[in-house]
Amino acid sequence: MATAPHDGRYAPSPTGELHLGNLRTALAAWLFARAGGGRLLLRIDDLDPDRSRPEHEHGQLDALRSLGLTWDGEPVRQSARIDRHRWALDRLAGLDRTYPCFCSRAEVRAAAQAPHGPAVDGAYPGTCARFAPTEAARRVAAGEEHCLRVRAEGASRAYEDLLLGPVEEAVDDFVVRRRDGVPAYNLATVVDDADLGVGEVVRGADLAETTPRQLWLADTLGLPAPRFAHVPLVLGSDGARLAKRNGALGLPALAARGLDADQVRTLLAASLGIDIAPGDTPDPAELARRFDSRRVPREAVQLPV
Ligand code: GLU
Repeated sequence: MATAPHDGRYAPSPTGELHLGNLRTALAAWLFARAGGGRLLLRIDDLDPDRSRPEHEHGQLDALRSLGLTWDGEPVRQSARIDRHRWALDRLAGLDRTYPCFCSRAEVRAAAQAPHGPAVDGAYPGTCARFAPTEAARRVAAGEEHCLRVRAEGASRAYEDLLLGPVEEAVDDFVVRRRDGVPAYNLATVVDDADLGVGEVVRGADLAETTPRQLWLADTLGLPAPRFAHVPLVLGSDGARLAKRNGALGLPALAARGLDADQVRTLLAASLGIDIAPGDTPDPAELARRFDSRRVPREAVQLPV
């Protein structure tokens, strides 16, 4: 599908309720797309079989509708696109860009923290990349549990974020297929964004650090890469990352505090740099008219709820 510059997507994981921070990212994705005259697709990131639930998906769609946020076409479920994810895994294997990794989580953590471990926090230090191919194949054939990692060979990738400015990070040997066989987030995201013709990815700033990996992967697979705008996060009432205990509220809890969906949308829009007079609750179309991406705060915000 052809990529249009402002075609965007919102991609929630159906693992719980959308809270204020998620809803703000959804509104930001909607505003970037609509203000630029683009489409907004809704992608359901439901690959994690243990945590994804249809009832969460329904609740999330209801919350978006209550805010008046619309999307184009039917929602796209990642679980329906596994064939494309397998295509990408096969292609990486064909390029000799993957290897099996037998390390447990604890081993990865310990290696990453070793004195001569990798420069990037939490990055995989490449322990299993050093096995001879015959040894790796023997362990796989013997049924040893393993994930698949890319062979990035110390690459790094820079890009210009529409909100954060220049970003450059080392690309570690990140996971592309989990131990349970499920395509990993970075792989599925790159393939799906490219296939869906997404030109602009607007998402939370917590994902900015993994973006160089995704760009490296798109380059390696020969797929088009979108532009990125990472929206600084909402902090809780205590200034820490938003969590249940410090204000990660969904629409029902906000309603119980006296804020209806129109008021929540207005509050979120104001936090994205739109001027709104006290007492006014502009509809989404009016917000899109007033939205200017240059006015989105570059710092994390606390919301007055
Ligand atoms: N599904 C991811 C999440 O809810 C977002 C993925 C993305 O926007 O790339 O955190």
